[in-house]
Amino acid sequence: MSVLVFIECADGKVKKSSFEAACYGQQVAASLGTEIVAIAIGEVATEELKSLGKYGAAKVLVDEEPRLKDYVSQAYTKVVAAAAEKENASVIILSNTNIGSGIGARLAARLQACYAANVVALPEISGDTLKVKKSVFSGKAFAEENLSASTKIIAIKKNSIEVKETGSGEAAIETFTTALTDADLNGVPQETVRATGDVLLTEADIVVSGGRGMRGPENWHLIEDLAKALGAATACSKPVADVGWRPHHEHVGQTGITISPNLYIAVGISGAIQHLAGVNSSKVIVVINKDPEAPFFKAADYGIVGDIFEVVPKLIEEAKAL
Ligand code: FAD
Repeated sequence: MSVLVFIECADGKVKKSSFEAACYGQQVAASLGTEIVAIAIGEVATEELKSLGKYGAAKVLVDEEPRLKDYVSQAYTKVVAAAAEKENASVIILSNTNIGSGIGARLAARLQACYAANVVALPEISGDTLKVKKSVFSGKAFAEENLSASTKIIAIKKNSIEVKETGSGEAAIETFTTALTDADLNGVPQETVRATGDVLLTEADIVVSGGRGMRGPENWHLIEDLAKALGAATACSKPVADVGWRPHHEHVGQTGITISPNLYIAVGISGAIQHLAGVNSSKVIVVINKDPEAPFFKAADYGIVGDIFEVVPKLIEEAKAL
């Protein structure tokens, strides 16, 4: 019996959300008296994978099949399922990302497992049952769920688990191959184009986001300069993408991307419920808006009531001086 953690990678590096998943897995494994094994797919720097040993992974299985360089849901599911069977995994941990949740549901059907998404805390373990706490209704409430099937799949909401080194050891790396059919590889991307700039929006620690208050794309240099000075990714509200001021892959919210950065800076965004649905699990929210009654202030940790065109240039100067 073991705990298997699926490791997501981008640009040859392990994503932060996967370190969170490993830390979660390590704590679950310690409670169950077992150890964690990780499975990574695609090209990843060996040093990165070895470093998972610091987060409790005794071993990392790596499937470097070149056709799996980019995410293909059914093929990735098959690889993770094969790894789970090989390692006799009773618990499988994923990150609740687009990839993680895409695999999680398929994996549950394939392994006849129970599956809990958006999990925010360590489970209570009672015999063979794991009671998990999950975030529901776009972060407005929590629900508890008992997982009692022999295989349990848990997808961790980003930023809910602290990443802590638990040792100094290196994980052993083991090559892993899975027989894939043409059908498994249906939908392999021919070409992938990076959607965001230097910092991947879904992985960013800091996000600077602009709304209709920016007045037009010609003012977006303010968002970009502030993001650059802070090492942040840029995002926007839906109407901004709808009118073409910014590309749709930057749109966050209920109908866009869900993000959980440590710091979300909302510039000229009113804070409609549909926008909040995608950003309200950010650790710290800063709102800049000239309207003191803007709803976003209710969700903010810090607020600046002021004009973007006065406040943001000052913030850029301060951020550059950091
Ligand atoms: P506005 O609501 O127009 O707000 C602009 C803000 O800028 C105002 O608060 C104003 O006070 C401030 N402002 C203006 N000028 C300045 C200045 N000079 N200095 C400082 N502040 C200034 N929206 C999303 O963002 N994401 C979604 O995923 C999403 N999904 C939706 C799904 C559905 C089904 C529906 C119906 C709507 C959805 N929306 C979504 C739209 C959402 O309801 C809001 O209309 C939208 O979020 C508003 O965008 P905004 O805050 O940029 O614009």
